[in-house]
Amino acid sequence: MPAQNMEELVSLCKRRGFIFQGSEIYGGLQGFYDYGPLGVELKNNIKAAWWRSNVYERDDMEGLDSSIIMHRMVLRHSGHEATFSDPMVDNRKTKKRYRLDHLVKEQKPAVQAAVAEAMGESLENFPALVAALVKRPADASAALISAGVRDSHSGETGDWTEPKPFNMMFKTTIGPTADEDSFGYLRPETAQGIFTNFKNVVDATSRRLPFGIAQIGKAFRNEITPRNFIFRVRELEQMEIEFFCTPGTDEDWHAHWLEKRLSWWEAQGVPRSKIEILDVPKEDLAHYSKRTYDLMYDYPTLGHEEIEGIANRSDYDLGSHTKAQAELGLVASVEENLDSVAKLTIPHPETNKPVVPFVIEPSAGVDRALLAVMSEAFTKETLENGSERIVLKLKPHLAPIKVAVIPLARNREEITALARQIKADLQRLGLGRVLYEDSGNIGKAYRRHDEVGTPFCVTVDFDTFGLGGEGKVSDPALLGTVTVRDRDTLAQERVRVDELSAWIRARLA
Ligand code: ATP
Repeated sequence: MPAQNMEELVSLCKRRGFIFQGSEIYGGLQGFYDYGPLGVELKNNIKAAWWRSNVYERDDMEGLDSSIIMHRMVLRHSGHEATFSDPMVDNRKTKKRYRLDHLVKEQKPAVQAAVAEAMGESLENFPALVAALVKRPADASAALISAGVRDSHSGETGDWTEPKPFNMMFKTTIGPTADEDSFGYLRPETAQGIFTNFKNVVDATSRRLPFGIAQIGKAFRNEITPRNFIFRVRELEQMEIEFFCTPGTDEDWHAHWLEKRLSWWEAQGVPRSKIEILDVPKEDLAHYSKRTYDLMYDYPTLGHEEIEGIANRSDYDLGSHTKAQAELGLVASVEENLDSVAKLTIPHPETNKPVVPFVIEPSAGVDRALLAVMSEAFTKETLENGSERIVLKLKPHLAPIKVAVIPLARNREEITALARQIKADLQRLGLGRVLYEDSGNIGKAYRRHDEVGTPFCVTVDFDTFGLGGEGKVSDPALLGTVTVRDRDTLAQERVRVDELSAWIRARLA
């Protein structure tokens, strides 16, 4: 059974070194997390699985790694300067600041209903209610106060200001000049790096429609209220595809990607039955979107929340950057650009005339993926002897450690030497991290590896050398064999040392 609540996961992540609070020794920085020894492995494995499936296993995809800090013009003409904001509201009593929609959603149903009634909206259509609160700030302030909306810090009713938009982009100065205009933005999505490199990739690869560009990388959002562990952070990582297609074929490609992405999640251990597909209502769509499906995973404690957005961004971004280039005089005119200069266009596959392609964008968060994968894998079992074990039943390709090799006696040279040799041989298979582990108590080592999801533990013992140990006579059949313990079934099997690599490869590759 998957994790029942977020605390179980947070506690495991800390205990076993998956995730730490960012800048912890100075009291921590809200919305920033560091991935520890096991977290970095799990994260890398998730990203590798995504890359394999979306780049290597397809013939219509190219990869990219673009810079994080971008020219402010990119984010201006992408629409982010004007619209990448969330509505915030302050409580004059406590001086606390909240994201408006989160604040209303956290209220008791009767209070939410009173806000909706005061605004003349229905609670059934929550996005429309939020839109009305944003559009009519004076009414919104009055509605929040009269409905008795409470501050989640103090628990008291608040004296609420008018909501106003808060732009979530981080700015940074570039170079030594103190000049106010010498700033760039930390990208709020990796996508813009793909759009600005569209022509470079087309020219370098001779791609024709349809094809995609995939990128994994950091993005930054100055969230008003980062929370729920790594679910809502200010420094996040995204796995994004911009799939370029001929206008008119976009809806079919949108359906294609919805299907592809759901089966990818399934292959990572996140079943379809746990993901609701939200056809995002018009009033809630991002500024660039013609239509968006949000994949809403059923997170422990949080309930259904977005793990991935699959947007039809139409020709919005390439079109807008093309127009901007004409306005800035970088190309003569939009028409000329389309006809000859063809900055951000590509030949139509049938007419060969330059066209601004449509774009389907599957965009998944690595941090939210890691949380979902861990939550599905988290299992508590009661063993036959009545004791409880926590085991992370991760798909083997995601497991941070693939095999732990344990010498049963730390002071016996032949045992430790063979264990080290086995570790080196298994490491060479290239399946991921193999750990030599001689921390002592075998029972504790098994428990620890169950908790971090290591699929197999290999133990080298006295029988491997026909030594019997502590007065026991060794079974000659065990000579040259080691014990392999299976994380899920707990079965222990003797495997010949010279067959071990093939045995492991057959189960993990
Ligand atoms: P939300 O509505 O939850 O703020 P969003 O609609 O703004 O998310 P998108 O812009 O569609 O998110 O970003 C694509 C993906 O990036 C999301 O599905 C999510 O997995 C991830 N993501 C976005 N914002 C954050 C964040 N603050 N922390 C962690 N992951 C995020």
